[in-house]
Amino acid sequence: MEGCIFCKIVNGEIPSKQLYEDDFIIAIMDINPRCDGHTLIIPKEHFEDYTKLDETTFEHIMLKAELLAKSICEKLDCEGYSLVINYGSLQDVKHFHLHILPDSGKKLHEVDAVYDKLTK
Ligand code: 5GP
Ligand code: ZN
Repeated sequence: MEGCIFCKIVNGEIPSKQLYEDDFIIAIMDINPRCDGHTLIIPKEHFEDYTKLDETTFEHIMLKAELLAKSICEKLDCEGYSLVINYGSLQDVKHFHLHILPDSGKKLHEVDAVYDKLTK
């Protein structure tokens, strides 16, 4: 969708620190992380919010969230995580995305350093 920042990231017009890609989704590091390992799963297709998602895409995202969160937590040595979906006034970017927020002890390192750790 024109003017959508996440469509531009999906198309490679805007760079991102990508952790995963398949035919339906990408997973990237959040540019302004709330904790180490803060990751966004973004469907390649533009859906405005979670109410517009089809069941198949939602199921795919949740399956991949489990695998990605497990891998991120292993690499950052943490035991748990939150999966967050914002909506309405709490959703800044109107292209659906799922936040993975690892319980990384809130110690905030530079995104570059965390990205290196996750992609090693
Ligand atoms: P929302 O409130 O829409 O659920 O959260 C949007 C998230 O996207 C925020 O955590 C914000 O830091 C992140 N974000 C916004 N613009 C960019 C960007 O250009 N690149 C990346 N990697 N993350 C972004
Ligand atoms: Zn979009």
